[in-house]
Amino acid sequence: MRLKNSFLFIVLFFFTTSLYGSKLEYRSWPKGESFLLFLKHKNISKDIYYNLDDSDKQLCAEIVAGVRYEVLVENNITKQYLIPINHKIQIHLRKEDIGYSIDFIPIVVKEHQKSVSLKLKTTLFSDIYTKTKNKALAAQFISLFRGINFKKMKLDDKISINFNTYTRDGKTFAWPRIISASIEVGKKRYYQYLNPKDERYYDKKGVSKSNFFLKVPLKYKRISSGFTYRRWHPILKKYRAHHGIDYAAPRGRRIYASGTGKIIFKGRKGGYGKTVIIQHKHGFKTLYAHMDRYSRAKRGQHIKQGTLVGYVGSTGVSTGPHLHFGLYKGSRAINPANRVKRVIKTKLRGKQLVAFQKIVKTQDDILQKVIEENKKYDISKDIKNSCERL
Ligand SMILES: [Zn+2]
Repeated sequence: MRLKNSFLFIVLFFFTTSLYGSKLEYRSWPKGESFLLFLKHKNISKDIYYNLDDSDKQLCAEIVAGVRYEVLVENNITKQYLIPINHKIQIHLRKEDIGYSIDFIPIVVKEHQKSVSLKLKTTLFSDIYTKTKNKALAAQFISLFRGINFKKMKLDDKISINFNTYTRDGKTFAWPRIISASIEVGKKRYYQYLNPKDERYYDKKGVSKSNFFLKVPLKYKRISSGFTYRRWHPILKKYRAHHGIDYAAPRGRRIYASGTGKIIFKGRKGGYGKTVIIQHKHGFKTLYAHMDRYSRAKRGQHIKQGTLVGYVGSTGVSTGPHLHFGLYKGSRAINPANRVKRVIKTKLRGKQLVAFQKIVKTQDDILQKVIEENKKYDISKDIKNSCERL
C-alpha cells in the first residue's frame, strides 16, 4: 500500500513538473523582421540559414509579417519554433544538443466545408457578413460576380455559397475559398464554379471572363526556372519548391509592373535581394526580386500596369542576372504562368470541359439543397501534408 502511494506521488510529481515546465506560446511575426534578424534576436547561429540551398533561402524570405508562429518552451529552454511560410509549409527550428536544426515540414490545417444561403435584405455585403461573420467571404463573393448589376436585385433574391474555411489550432488560417456560388438577379440566376485545375472561376458553360490581366513584366531571353509547389523529393529527402518564374535577362533590363496596383514593399528581402511587391485588386500581389536597382516609384504609391519598377540584377541569393517574378493570392503562392497572358476570356474544351462539368453537377446539387432547405452545414476534416492539393 505504502509503495503504491509513493509511486502515485512520483507519477504526480513528474506530471506536474512537465506541465509547468513546458508551455506553448503563439507570437506574431514582427513587421520588417527578416529570418536572419530573427535568428540574431533569438541567439541562433546564422549558419543554419547560410547552409540552406538557394530555394530554401528564398522561402525563408517569404514569411509574412503578422503571421502567427508557435514557440515551445521547456524548462525555460526554447525547444522548437514553427513558423508558417504559406498555408502548407512551415519552418521547423528544433533545439539540438548544440544549437538548432532547421527543416521544412507540412502544416496540418483543418478544412471546414461550409454552405450558406440567404435572401437579400439590405446589401449583399452586409447580408453575407451578418450571416457568416466573414468579411473576406463577402468581398470574394462580390468580386466573383463583378460585371453583374447588383442594383437590379430585388428584395428576397436568393444567393447561396459553398465554401471552405481553414483553421490551424482552432484559429482562422488563410483565406476562405469559394467552391461554387449562385446569385439571383430579378428572375435570372448566375453561377460561378472554381476549377481546381487552374484555380480560376467559370460559369456553367465553362467560360471564364476574368477581367484581371497581368502582363509579363519584362522582355526576357528565356525562362530559366518555372513554378513548382513544394513537393517531397524522395531521393534528396527534402521539400523542393520554386514559388515564381525566373526570367533570364541581362543586367539593367527594365522591369515593369505586371498589373495596376499599389507598391506595398520596396527593399531588401532576404534571399530575394532588392525586391518590390505590388498589391493588386482581388487580393493578388506580384513580387519582383533580385533587382539591381529600383525605379523612382515609392512605397505606398499607386501605379499603373507597365510602370517601371526596377532593373534586372542579381542581388540576394542568385547565380546570375534574372528576374524572380512571384504571384500571390492572399499569402498563397500561385503559378504566374496561368495569369501573365492577356486573356479576356477562357473557354474550357475537351477533357477539361468534361471534368469541369462533373464539378458543376455536384456543386449544383449542393447549392440547390442549401437554398431549398435553407440549411447550413459544416464538415470539418484535417488536411495533412496538402502539398499536392489546392
Ligand atoms: Zn526564382
